[in-house]
Amino acid sequence: MTDGARSATPPGLLPREVATHCPYCALQCGMTLRSDDAGVTVHPRQFPTNRGGLCQKGWTAAELLDHPERLTTPLVRDPATGELQPASWDTALDRVVAGIRAVQDDAGRDAVAVFGGGGLTNEKAYALGKFARIGLRTRNIDYNGRFCMSSAAAAGMRAFGIDRGLPFPLADLGRADTLLLVGANPAETMPPLVRWLTEQRRNGGKLIVIDPRVTATARQADLHLQPLPGTDLAVANALLHIALTEGWVDRAYVADRTTGFDAVRRGVTAWWPARAEQLSGVPVADLEATARALGTAGRVIILTARGAEQHAKGVDTVTAYVNLALALGLPGRDGSGYGCLTGQGNGQGGREHGQKADQLPGYRKIDDPAAREHVAGVWGVPADELPGPGVPAYQLLDSLGTPGGPRALLVFGSNPVVSAPRAARIEGRLRDLDLLVVADLLLSETAALADVVLPTAQWAEEDGTMTNLEGRVLRRRALRPPPSGVRTDLAIISDLAARLADAESTDANPASVRPAAVAAARFPADPATVFAELRRASAGGAADYAGISWDRIDADDGVYWPCPTEDGPDTPRLFADRFATPDGRARFHPVDHRPAAEEVCATYPLHFTTGRVLAQYQSGTQTRRVAALRRAAPEAFVELHPDLAARLDIDDGDPVRVTSRRGEFSAPARLSAGIRPDTVFAPFHYAGKGRANSVTNDAVDPISGMPEFKICAVRVEKA
Ligand code: SF4
Repeated sequence: MTDGARSATPPGLLPREVATHCPYCALQCGMTLRSDDAGVTVHPRQFPTNRGGLCQKGWTAAELLDHPERLTTPLVRDPATGELQPASWDTALDRVVAGIRAVQDDAGRDAVAVFGGGGLTNEKAYALGKFARIGLRTRNIDYNGRFCMSSAAAAGMRAFGIDRGLPFPLADLGRADTLLLVGANPAETMPPLVRWLTEQRRNGGKLIVIDPRVTATARQADLHLQPLPGTDLAVANALLHIALTEGWVDRAYVADRTTGFDAVRRGVTAWWPARAEQLSGVPVADLEATARALGTAGRVIILTARGAEQHAKGVDTVTAYVNLALALGLPGRDGSGYGCLTGQGNGQGGREHGQKADQLPGYRKIDDPAAREHVAGVWGVPADELPGPGVPAYQLLDSLGTPGGPRALLVFGSNPVVSAPRAARIEGRLRDLDLLVVADLLLSETAALADVVLPTAQWAEEDGTMTNLEGRVLRRRALRPPPSGVRTDLAIISDLAARLADAESTDANPASVRPAAVAAARFPADPATVFAELRRASAGGAADYAGISWDRIDADDGVYWPCPTEDGPDTPRLFADRFATPDGRARFHPVDHRPAAEEVCATYPLHFTTGRVLAQYQSGTQTRRVAALRRAAPEAFVELHPDLAARLDIDDGDPVRVTSRRGEFSAPARLSAGIRPDTVFAPFHYAGKGRANSVTNDAVDPISGMPEFKICAVRVEKA
């Protein structure tokens, strides 16, 4: 066994080890952390999803525990110098509370906003949503998961009545006769998952990948379809067209378990294969081969990921693949189905417990009177005191500091200066705020703009739960306490609530818009106490955690929601008998191709798309500071086809500038025959002049609010 990166063990702590999970992506690989005289080491752990595998990010995760750039004291911006200066917790929290009070007194409750993250534990996501609704009493809360899998979530809700990334265990992938991946590149984003793809092919299964690039995953496929970015929907409709023509639609399933098929059937008659080829560039023969592999195999799984979802028509694109899956009778069939590969570590749990603008815990809708009554009862407030729905993440960020928009923002576990579309504009919005507060473990690009920075604990320093891409609730276990000067997010929320309550109780202003005292006791800092409350708040909701205890998670290698009772079963597989709709049937929705929000033109003649690389994670706040990962992927690059490069007189390694209507970034050219000659690609993990999101399009999906990260029009030239 090879040890991962080391980190010094704090003096006075006994050597020990804990079984926990990786801090990064939604695969949540099992790992063991050991602490001894030599430091903290990461060891792979047998867990049903990763089966002993870790990627380089997981191996090196401990390096950040004692990283020299780690924040260990609050920072407060000095009005005289404009610089962030170390401060005591009292000073920092007083500044935050005074800022919140000043803004809300002047502009109302909604003038304070909260922005969360898909990496926060379930307990934190729950506490943050609750703090926003009854601590700050603002409707303005959303999170960066909106940029991740919100389109698949919305498509799942409208088709199945429930949103769980995979409605079956990951192990089902290994048994699939045909596995179709649409816009997914797990070989780079979650490498241990590839073991299931290898097993699937070893069992005689066929792997088909739809991706505009020849990715590491596409190279392993039996068949790779390489459509123009933004045409996945048309490809899906053509596949269904062929399935109908060839008689592969499961008529009995459609009749017994679904509604709305006729409208979809009529719609896809217009998507004959040659038309789809003309639009997408995917040859008719490949469309036919794909449809045959899907329509004639026994166990068939269709998975989408960000490539299909991060579009202004992301919900409709996912819906087209859901329609295909339903027509073939896959959801609920043993070893078959449709699923979404969730990206962020707790992207699933983070969207279930209330940090989304329109949700309350348990995946309840905030505008549902019964849901409001239930959650308000758990929180001990009248239902009519809960605010209504807020706005999705990009709309929220884009309104900051504008007339009528929020004037203060609290950010937990997110770095929108790098991760938001049209990032320079969002950076400007953040600068326009009266008060920006960022809780983070490192000085991210967003934290660097803040008025107050609050240093937070890392994953190995706190207990909690995460919900992985299968809807399996897992335990995160603390190896050691946070270093001196650092607090957990839950402790920060608890401290802020207490100070707001104290300030309120001494407030002489009878017209104050803030609540009557919100008792600090309602915001416990202990994660076990928070989880117990979360269970009650989620009881009866779609994502019902009422029967999930930490002991049960320990005993069972995780527990799949919904799990309504402690002595009843959990739910590894959904949809065996019915869907989560009022009539129990899945719902087809007719969807049609529409162009990208921005099409190429003479000035911006190339398609631009973004994605990830193996050695970096999301906005890179953490992974860009890990030495081995920095060596492996030190900077942004612009991938372009050699033919395009020749046309532009660009050699491999030349600095190039990419310009869109919204901005520009520059990075070295990387020539690859694996990308279409009409498309360029860059990873989005980097800041500064290599920030790919400087050019991305902020057009959003009308249903999910997902920005169009995956396609815009650009010009490329030698810098
Ligand atoms: S695949 Fe994801 S969860 Fe597993 S080690 Fe890598 S980053 Fe961590």
